[in-house]
Amino acid sequence: MCGCGDRHAPGEPTPYDVGQAELTTGRRTLLKAGGGLAFSTAALAAGAGAADAAPLARTRKRVYVLVFDGCTPEEISGGQAPHLADLMFGGKRFAKAQSMPIMETIPNHVMMMTGVRPDRSGVPANSVFDRKLGAVRDLDRSSDLRADTIIERLNRRGLRTGTVLSKEYLYGVFGTRATARWEPFPVLPITGHAPDEFTINAAMAMVEDVDPHLMFVNLGDIDRFGHADVTGPLGVKALRRLALAKTDLYVQRFVDLLKSRGTWKHSMLVVLADHSMDWSTTNRVVSLAGPLDEDPVLRGRVQIADNGGADLLYWTGPSAQKEDAVRRMVRIARAETGVLSVFDRRHKSLRLGPQAGEVVAFCRSGWRFSDPDPVTSNPIPGNHGHPATRPIPFFINGGHPRLQHYAASSLVAQTIDVAPTVGRFFGLTGAPKGGYDGRARI
Ligand SMILES: [Zn+2]
Repeated sequence: MCGCGDRHAPGEPTPYDVGQAELTTGRRTLLKAGGGLAFSTAALAAGAGAADAAPLARTRKRVYVLVFDGCTPEEISGGQAPHLADLMFGGKRFAKAQSMPIMETIPNHVMMMTGVRPDRSGVPANSVFDRKLGAVRDLDRSSDLRADTIIERLNRRGLRTGTVLSKEYLYGVFGTRATARWEPFPVLPITGHAPDEFTINAAMAMVEDVDPHLMFVNLGDIDRFGHADVTGPLGVKALRRLALAKTDLYVQRFVDLLKSRGTWKHSMLVVLADHSMDWSTTNRVVSLAGPLDEDPVLRGRVQIADNGGADLLYWTGPSAQKEDAVRRMVRIARAETGVLSVFDRRHKSLRLGPQAGEVVAFCRSGWRFSDPDPVTSNPIPGNHGHPATRPIPFFINGGHPRLQHYAASSLVAQTIDVAPTVGRFFGLTGAPKGGYDGRARI
């Protein structure tokens, strides 16, 4: 699997189940919103703003972080999304922006809201081998995220925050952190996401009914249609173009709403993708399970968490043999056709933390991993997680006077830059314990 499907360990409740259970046990309060939508909230009902920090002045500033899941920079600049292109060229754009390893959805959304790398957040990939559970699972539990988020930092200053996340596992990992949350609905089977039309309607309803100071929105259609698009490897990407054109219109509706409410002039809009997308044909699939199992030391003692363009390898044998096992895994993976690079996970540049296992393998552009089964584990053409999917669109626009317009930066903006950028906009002093790994981009 690419790690993007609706997958949970056997017997484990889905994030959606957990949310429903919280509702029925009365731990959350539903805020009735326009159009029959409902947002769940606990902190608002209890009175937003804890006593551990002085509240910010009653600011009129608003921040909207819109994530176009799986969008490539060319799709915005290439004329397929005219409204987004207008916003990008009319704002401050970062032409060399990057997703961070592992170039998957959950870790990069977590990096956006924490501003720290996975060795500090505890969330290095979509899919990991959970040693306690003894199974591969998605990092979709609120307890998986161990770092402070900009959402919670703003909550503590008495500001309202909102999450409108189209994917069940994102709803799961951010849990009840925001003061108002939309639970993705309706969720499509297999993809585990709500269509963008519903997501943007929820975002607009939340602006009108809750008016959060910070809203974090994930739009999943472009990614989902990219994964499923069998015309992707042929370069046609028909479904994806259609999805992008629609989502482009939805975003314009969202911006029009902000302008009609008079909110735009106080706002900062941060638009980016969590990763881009790459396509592979059925004859360009790498499976490491077989070659690893042929090694006498590794046989039956390695677990693989498949993340589409990246495989995470976990040694489950005796710790005394771990160093030898790591060397063997690296050597065997490097010899496979379609593999781009293989690292000891402790390699300084990766900063993935122990949840990512012992060895990390990335595939080449135009390839994908399918583990443990070479045929059934990951049959979908569109994937990400590998360096080919690192370039992302990233731009800042909005009507607030401190923002730049028609500006281009050659700096390498990254997904971890979002939290410090939001913090600086609101004038938050200081940084989380240990400082940010990202940088403010305003
Ligand atoms: Zn994604």
